[in-house]
Amino acid sequence: MTKADFMFLMILICLVSQPVQRDDFIPSLPLPHSETRMQPVTHIVIHHFTLSVAEMLRTLDRSRISVHYIIDTAGHIIPVVPEDKVAWHAGVSYWHGLNGLNKASVGIELQHPDFGQTPFSEEQIAALIPLVQDIMARYHIPPENIVGHSDIVPDAKADPGKAFPWQRLAEAGIGLWYRLDDADKMAEYTVKELLDIIGYPTEGRDLESSAYAFRRRWLPEQVAYDDDVVGHGQAIFEARTQATSLPPEERAAFLAKAPRIHPPDDGTFLTDPDFIRVLRAVAYRYQTERAKNRINMGENE
Ligand SMILES: [Zn+2]
Repeated sequence: MTKADFMFLMILICLVSQPVQRDDFIPSLPLPHSETRMQPVTHIVIHHFTLSVAEMLRTLDRSRISVHYIIDTAGHIIPVVPEDKVAWHAGVSYWHGLNGLNKASVGIELQHPDFGQTPFSEEQIAALIPLVQDIMARYHIPPENIVGHSDIVPDAKADPGKAFPWQRLAEAGIGLWYRLDDADKMAEYTVKELLDIIGYPTEGRDLESSAYAFRRRWLPEQVAYDDDVVGHGQAIFEARTQATSLPPEERAAFLAKAPRIHPPDDGTFLTDPDFIRVLRAVAYRYQTERAKNRINMGENE
């Protein structure tokens, strides 16, 4: 064997011994991309994904991210990371004074063939409701802390999407719905104040994005088709991935200029009377529920 042959052989051995992820590879569970929990679970975050379950697991593994549960369209629940670990599913996020929801939440991914734009399967929702109720009961999570990814990252995330049945879940004690009669009680508040009361991020460009995320959740009939969910999804995802590798002090400035979800009708809905009325009614519900919880907690002490 000449020296050149030997080198060639060594290079070949190195290449062959590299771990290669084939297309039919399924990562073993639980996924390792997680960390020890340092604080109690107080929130649940609901997502959707459009891949097959095997592709989703590969994508999570390659991207070194994770979630606690996947529910496929047939209603099978697949545990991905144990609840006692922090999974990495929410990214840079905010809800009612809490920054970075990963550390305080359980994340659930719902498989959906069309970006949450058409009804979710009955089997899937029938599996989701008791799972969420069980998690809520075990950690004493109040309904106002059940959020969609789009509620906590409104400028970059649109999942679980406009067809997610929030009203039906609220009837099962998961999240809150509203009574239109309550709208008059909140007439003195601005749009920003009302979104703040509910929990949305409202600083800078988040205000318009949050108003749109609100509309997707509580006025889905006003959202014809979420073009941005499909259109800018990849660019937004890439910018977010890039942001995680930046030092924390540079991250905010980078994200402020990154691609984002644009409300498709230039925000004209912000003055729409139906939007304002529902926003006031929802804010009233969140305000009164949180006040009730504070009283209950005080009584327990
Ligand atoms: Zn998500």
